[in-house]
Amino acid sequence: MLVLLSSVNGNNFALLYSRNMNKSRNYILVVLIITSLLLAAPIRVLYRVDMRQDKLRTLDRGSGTYFSTVDLARILACRYYVNPERQKIVLYIANHRVKISAKSSFIIIDDQVFQMPMFTKVIGEDVYVPAEAFFSIIKRTVIPGLAYNSKRQMLDIDVVNFNIIGLAIEDKANGTIIRLQTKDQFKDGNISSFIHDNGWFYLTVVGGIADSSVIVRADYGRAVRRILVDQLDESVQLAFQLRPKIENQEVYLNRDPAEIVITLRTPVVDSMARLKGLRERWYLNTVVLDAGHGGKDGGAIGRYGTKEKDITLDIVKRVGLLLEKNTNIRVVYTREEDVFIPIAKRPKIANAVNGKLFVSIHANATSNRKIRGFETYLLRPGKTADAIEVATRENAVIKLEEQENNYFELSDEALIMATMAQSAFMKESELLAATIQSELAKRLKSPDRGVKQAGFYVLIGASMPNVLVETGFLSNAQEEKMLKKPSYRQKIAQSIYQAIVTFKNSRELVLAEE
Ligand SMILES: [Zn+2]
Repeated sequence: MLVLLSSVNGNNFALLYSRNMNKSRNYILVVLIITSLLLAAPIRVLYRVDMRQDKLRTLDRGSGTYFSTVDLARILACRYYVNPERQKIVLYIANHRVKISAKSSFIIIDDQVFQMPMFTKVIGEDVYVPAEAFFSIIKRTVIPGLAYNSKRQMLDIDVVNFNIIGLAIEDKANGTIIRLQTKDQFKDGNISSFIHDNGWFYLTVVGGIADSSVIVRADYGRAVRRILVDQLDESVQLAFQLRPKIENQEVYLNRDPAEIVITLRTPVVDSMARLKGLRERWYLNTVVLDAGHGGKDGGAIGRYGTKEKDITLDIVKRVGLLLEKNTNIRVVYTREEDVFIPIAKRPKIANAVNGKLFVSIHANATSNRKIRGFETYLLRPGKTADAIEVATRENAVIKLEEQENNYFELSDEALIMATMAQSAFMKESELLAATIQSELAKRLKSPDRGVKQAGFYVLIGASMPNVLVETGFLSNAQEEKMLKKPSYRQKIAQSIYQAIVTFKNSRELVLAEE
């Protein structure tokens, strides 16, 4: 009898049962089954929240211990649902859906499929699952504070103090920022990460216990498709399936608030958003026209008393009028009257109106009265002595301003810094400057002095392509005479207007090809 019992396993039972049906020895088998069920020692459960002790009914099979899922639901006080027809049981544990099927080795947690080495067993409406395999899966996914000792048939359920407690994902134009809220700050050495070729980003946190129910329910944004949390004894691994291709990743620890910050740089989140962003950025809908000097700052003065501030304002208004009449470009003036505008305020005005182009208009002067011609400047460290002279003179206005200490010395270093900020717009500025020069050359008889570089305060800080046009020399008698003529100023305005239109068209051609 004893020998027989120990050799009996679940499958042989059915076989024995049917074989013996006709031989009127049913009673022996019923006794056998009952004995077997009783002999299968229950799993002792210690529930540490309240030190409650309980027992999980089990089946002892040759292949190991199986326990009752209905019992588990009762012990965990979790909601569960039984579908007797489809022989399925679903447990709702800590915001997770654990789906168990009869006579299957698969369990599905949320949408993730796990396989156990053995099939589940059915007794009535209850499903018995292999204890060791099942608890190992549950520990990794649903209840990290669970420990099962198969030898002693002990299940210890501890309340876990999660230390990874939240997740926020932000989509940016050039990537995604993933912030994992943590209870305390982790050490640098405890965090490792990598991107797999299969499009998954893996983050391993040694000592991390993630509240996966919160994490998998976060807003994934555009870039993250799925998140899987794999809780191990010593660490937790978070896996993020990403939509876009990642160029590079960076993980750093934030102290206040405590978080693990992951930046994933993508070439673009999606091409439509990129195109839209580009269009918005480059679409030339606002031009800022800056009339040099004004008010107490007269600028250069010609031999016949012509003031630079008047010439510049007149030309700017002519350019603006042409743009307003012939295009749908919005024109913003830094000044429309003879008023003093601090030089640092001019690019600020341009940025505030979200200008796409900044054109500063001036008239030149130098000690050599023979020199004449027109030139256009870019913001860069001055290359030639002439360029530096012009910049120095144009910058001299700062002395007229009340708060002189707002300005730093335009050392080469400071200029390089300012120029670096400008570099994104440099190519555009160069194109615009060259176009202005060629348009002026078409209409004026004065010499084309070309595109130059110098450090102009007025060009610093404008977040858009920007140029400074020196339309002619007031120090040259002949050019002063010309600049006094409205028809000449109209030619200059026409040239600058045409250059802006050409620039706009070439910009939008690039956009159309994207
Ligand atoms: Zn000037």
